Amino acid sequence: MSNFWFLEGLRKGRKTESFPLKDPLEPPMRPSEMKGDGEADCPTDAIADGKWEPGKCIFCRRCEPAFQPSGVQSIFKVKRTDKLFRKSIYLYKLDSGSCGACNVELGTIFDPQYDANRLNIFMTNTPRHADAIVIMGVYTEGMAQALKNAYEAMPEPKIVIALGACAISGGILGKSPEIPADFDVEIAGCPPSPYTILEAISRARGEH
Ligand code: SF4
Ligand code: SF4
Repeated sequence: MSNFWFLEGLRKGRKTESFPLKDPLEPPMRPSEMKGDGEADCPTDAIADGKWEPGKCIFCRRCEPAFQPSGVQSIFKVKRTDKLFRKSIYLYKLDSGSCGACNVELGTIFDPQYDANRLNIFMTNTPRHADAIVIMGVYTEGMAQALKNAYEAMPEPKIVIALGACAISGGILGKSPEIPADFDVEIAGCPPSPYTILEAISRARGEH
């Protein structure tokens, strides 16, 4: 947690940022949108024909300085929105085979700095109460059936969120988890920043 955020909290007497209504106080450079041109020896083929594909990037920095992080946090794709979830949205997380970092960053959105609860974003421990399933990590044989069962146990309508490069594209480790539906939301990063996660979920609810 940055000292800047901590001092701002002391000065203003509150700890929580106004994001996504206002710009992030101190957006991280990695992960953020990579900008540049030319080719690079990218281990995940995230750069092809001079274009950067966020869902494949593991932010290893091998392409720098031809490509540089910009600080822009909006590195997500929202393919389907549902305004039904504006009142509240309950997330069920499923770790198919992650290193743990995506899991930690998802938990961070509920910390005082981001306070996802103020946006009526909550976690649930059962897929039967979930509006969205958040899948992280690569495909693993041992979790394949669990993922399918969780998805099928969720009530309609439901949103499928892929969190991090491993879930979106397999990252550098393997292949993307299998699910009986397309991803509705892809949140890039390795791991994604809390700002990116919050903004993507807001967009999926048809906000902003
Ligand atoms: S940071 Fe690494 S993974 Fe991302 S585009 Fe550059 S070389 Fe590829
Ligand atoms: S995307 Fe990166 S941070 Fe997330 S599980 Fe994969 S390796 Fe870990």
